[in-house]
Amino acid sequence: MNLNQSQRLLVNLSTVRSWLTFFAIVSLLGFIGLGWLVKSLLIMTALILLTPILLFVGFRWWLGQNLVKGACPACGNPLTGLNNTQTTCPFCAQTVSVEKSSFQRPAEPGTIDVQAIEVTSQSVD
Ligand SMILES: [Zn+2]
Repeated sequence: MNLNQSQRLLVNLSTVRSWLTFFAIVSLLGFIGLGWLVKSLLIMTALILLTPILLFVGFRWWLGQNLVKGACPACGNPLTGLNNTQTTCPFCAQTVSVEKSSFQRPAEPGTIDVQAIEVTSQSVD
């Protein structure tokens, strides 16, 4: 136990010493007019550390904008997909396309969309 404690103290001391060395080098560089070097190194380190975080936040934002949750138009089960992509419903295997934040059943090739128009018949005398 005593040995363990002294080892921990040694580790702490070496950590403190390495930090002291770091600060000594930084202040020395600042003293001889190389503070800009330290600053640019710190900025670069911050950028390297921040870039993955920014990418992650950006990806989450993009996902929030493009992730669409809705019901399958064929079977009504809950479905999740990305905007402007096609997905297959895991419940009924129907291919559905995601357009304008809603799920739509894609028209079969050769299908013509028609709209019913009410025609009033008049008898000609
Ligand atoms: Zn379905």
